[in-house]
Amino acid sequence: MNIVIHRGSHEIGGSCLEIVNGNDRILVDIGSPLIDPDTKKPPDIKGIYKDEIAPLGIDGMLISHPHIDHYGYFEHLRDDMPYYVGAAAKKLIDLTVLFTSQKGHIGQFKPIEDRKAFKIKSFTITPFLVDHSAFDAYAFLIEAGGKKLFYSGDFRAHGRKAKLFHKFIRNGPTDIDTLLIEGTMFGRSSENVKKESDIEKEILDIAMSSNKNIILAYLSSQNIDRLVTLFRVARRSSRLFVIDFYTANILSEIKDHARVPYTNKSIFPEVRVYFPHLLANRIAEKNRKKLIYRYRYYKINRNEISKKKHKIIMLVRPSVIFDLRLIKGLDRGDFIYSIWQGYLNNTHTMELIDFVKDKNMRVHNIHTSGHADIDTLKKMVDKLNPKTVIPIHTNYPEQYENQFTGFSVCMLKDKEEFYF
Ligand SMILES: [Zn+2]
Repeated sequence: MNIVIHRGSHEIGGSCLEIVNGNDRILVDIGSPLIDPDTKKPPDIKGIYKDEIAPLGIDGMLISHPHIDHYGYFEHLRDDMPYYVGAAAKKLIDLTVLFTSQKGHIGQFKPIEDRKAFKIKSFTITPFLVDHSAFDAYAFLIEAGGKKLFYSGDFRAHGRKAKLFHKFIRNGPTDIDTLLIEGTMFGRSSENVKKESDIEKEILDIAMSSNKNIILAYLSSQNIDRLVTLFRVARRSSRLFVIDFYTANILSEIKDHARVPYTNKSIFPEVRVYFPHLLANRIAEKNRKKLIYRYRYYKINRNEISKKKHKIIMLVRPSVIFDLRLIKGLDRGDFIYSIWQGYLNNTHTMELIDFVKDKNMRVHNIHTSGHADIDTLKKMVDKLNPKTVIPIHTNYPEQYENQFTGFSVCMLKDKEEFYF
């Protein structure tokens, strides 16, 4: 096998890996970069982009999970591209395209499932469902020509699916030839790593102690673990769980794949839906009003929110400031910042923070990383017992050698070929 990391050998974000065996070629992930996305271009790979007349140059495109730094450049890919991706992950990608400025569409959809091996030409690929902040995320064992490659994707062992990691250590592949493993947490503090159950406890403490005020929470609506956490806090503190209709759509799509709360008056009476002005306009312009109307029976308007403010946990994001201005009684409530700290530099995020501070709300930073701490990475490497470890999805590839003692680490540059 031959591999090339097109992007991600020295960078978090924009992951793209090409694997070649004889005449057979597959790609794993086609992410857009997180840093300087405007100045960077999609990787130079023949036979995959829309404007090419040549025949399709790739036998399959694996998408490890629905984070844009792993699939965002798919908007440029041709329609006859076969995509191997989880069914729930595909739904989340489709919703991202509907609700945000991300473009693209999954051409030929080939659903993948945990530990169900499939073939693409001479490759045998086994997906392993992993615990990550993205839902329906996979690592891949890729075998061809008597060699074994393992791609970790993004993973961790402290979320609501931590059991998957322990199962992997008990009953996963071993004696791998080449391991590509993420190293997001190199250079980041391990304080960022808390169990999801600890996050739940911290937020519950706030909900129980401030029983006169509203709680606003800013998180990714696709961080399903965190949505479950917020819902559980709402239920345990007898509050309504007020979500926007984007989040309501996500939960409706995911409910057949996981135990999540969703709009259903008898099972989850706490779940109520609001309709942010900007988002409603955008969806109406796209002629997709059904995505709004399907939640009209769960509607909570601003008067009801104002009246019941001490009985509410409400999901917010920078684009709903317009709606928040119309709600009375936010003063001295609690605001939970529950996404990556790096977004604090974003102007829209700053506007939201300024807004809540203006209202004299208390700001709490409560979040945990989507990525494995160093100890977990080591356990993964020990289990896989690879001949070679190759850094990917990391800002600090040079730290691998010191951490994974006893293993041979090979730092590649972007675009450099590696044969094994
Ligand atoms: Zn990710």
